[in-house]
Amino acid sequence: TEVKTDTETFIFRSKFPDIEIPNDQPLHTYCFEKLSEIADRPCLIDGSDSDRMYTFAETHFLCRKTAAGLKRLGVKRKDSIMVLLQNCPEFVFTFMAASMIGAVTTGANPHCTSNEIKKQLAASGARIIVTESKYVEKLPSEGVTIVVIDTGDIPAGCRRFSSEFIDAGGDFDVESEILINSDDPVALPFSSGTTGLPKGVVLTHKNLITSIAQQVDGENPNIHVKPNDVVICVLPLFHIFSLNSVLLCSIRSGCTVLLMKKFEITLFLELIQKHHVSIALVVPPLVLALMKNPKVENYDLSSIRMVHCGAAPLGKDLEITLRERLPQAIFGQGYGMTEAGPVLTMCPTFAKHPFPSKSGSCGTIVRNAEIKIIDPETTVSLRRNHPGEICIRGEEIMKGYLNDPEATARTIDADGWLHTGDIGYVDDDDDVFIVNRLKELIKVKGFQVPPAELESLLIGNPAISDAAVVAQKDEVAGEVPVAYVVRSERNGQDLTEDDVKGFISKQVVFYKRLHKVYFIASIPKSSSGKILRRKLQSKLTNNLDL
Ligand code: ATP
Ligand code: MG
Repeated sequence: TEVKTDTETFIFRSKFPDIEIPNDQPLHTYCFEKLSEIADRPCLIDGSDSDRMYTFAETHFLCRKTAAGLKRLGVKRKDSIMVLLQNCPEFVFTFMAASMIGAVTTGANPHCTSNEIKKQLAASGARIIVTESKYVEKLPSEGVTIVVIDTGDIPAGCRRFSSEFIDAGGDFDVESEILINSDDPVALPFSSGTTGLPKGVVLTHKNLITSIAQQVDGENPNIHVKPNDVVICVLPLFHIFSLNSVLLCSIRSGCTVLLMKKFEITLFLELIQKHHVSIALVVPPLVLALMKNPKVENYDLSSIRMVHCGAAPLGKDLEITLRERLPQAIFGQGYGMTEAGPVLTMCPTFAKHPFPSKSGSCGTIVRNAEIKIIDPETTVSLRRNHPGEICIRGEEIMKGYLNDPEATARTIDADGWLHTGDIGYVDDDDDVFIVNRLKELIKVKGFQVPPAELESLLIGNPAISDAAVVAQKDEVAGEVPVAYVVRSERNGQDLTEDDVKGFISKQVVFYKRLHKVYFIASIPKSSSGKILRRKLQSKLTNNLDL
């Protein structure tokens, strides 16, 4: 719905009516609200550990035990702890335990280098790290308490998760022990680092409850999750997309989360078949891997009723192939940004009483929030169908960047609008389309070229297995698009630069043509599913070997 206000601002709101959101309580209380009704239902299944199952009652109990353990280690309200783990039950216990004692969890990527992890550690001020023995060498040897989840031998000086938290001490009385303010931080995710260094984002209990409620609460939830659903959790929990939309939304909805340490195609397909997975949350590189792999045909994936893709642009051809492979499933996209808690828009076809949504759209704005689209240069508010910078306002957006009030002020303006840096528009049916990132648009003689559009065309070529497009400086045109292309192993061995250039020229206006094509073994991507364009860009400017 478009509302024009006195100040000439066009504000877009959801088709779903606002609901009462109980966001003045602690996050864990909200997520486990129905605990007594669903105590015996499966909450977590560890797909990487012989499918060990934890009921809701067991999960809650182990979260409480962990909370008691963290407290014994001296963790207090507003302290930070770091979780350096792939997806596993201990991740869940630790995150919820921290919430229970009013502490903040920062999830770090185990693939990061020692330096990167130490930076995140220093920024967050965490003194306790929950991890696995194999990552301990990346951690500082002093000044921190390291708790490892391993059952075998553990490095000297480390404590063991099971003996420290699970087998020891008493229970934790969630109701009475710690008073938590809903504006207290509970999660400290870091952005993906696509455009620069990853930024620490402070999310409060209120922020996360609002975001979860916007997705799965209400008479007509935007995402209709049923108690017998099984949701596959393969996207990393240290990234907010998975933490919020997979884990927390599922716990709130009382369905089962199937945890997978990392994406491995055979195990992924096996687990879906074996556990009758009904909801899959994915990112474009995962869709790409699935769709280009013939193994998929050997598995029964008919239990999947919903596929939710987010985090990065999904090309049209990939979407078509996915729909063909899973004809029984509702397919849709969501659009998130760490700073926005993270969900801004969601496919309305996932709802209990669905609305249609269009191919290529990332859904409609979530309820209890407002979107406006502004001209990035003049900041004038734009009408429907006019692309501009997407801005969002609502109680789900971050409290701010960690220790960086200036960056916060640059991102959230005085009226409470979070400026996303993404270019998109709202069409006549309230469908939101993302065109590209503001920073990534390539400007050729003043014309704008969105790299995502060219990438989508390139991936559609059967001789190409993956591609990325970046800007190259050019004396005449300012910038020109150049492509990094991965040849398909099956039918791309003879592909030449001219083939690729010709393939694109046939399909686009002259200024979008590729000026150069580099063949590369793989496209650098973040574990949250994004092309790390800054890496390609620096290869290009420094003329590095490929
Ligand atoms: P950084 O801010 O550190 O440079 P990042 O913005 O990639 O990295 P995230 O917060 O993980 O870090 O990602 C948010 C961004 O992901 C959005 O701003 C948007 O550009 C992109 N994105 C998310 N969902 C979609 C989608 N469905 N389609 C297109 N782009 C998307
Ligand atoms: Mg960002």
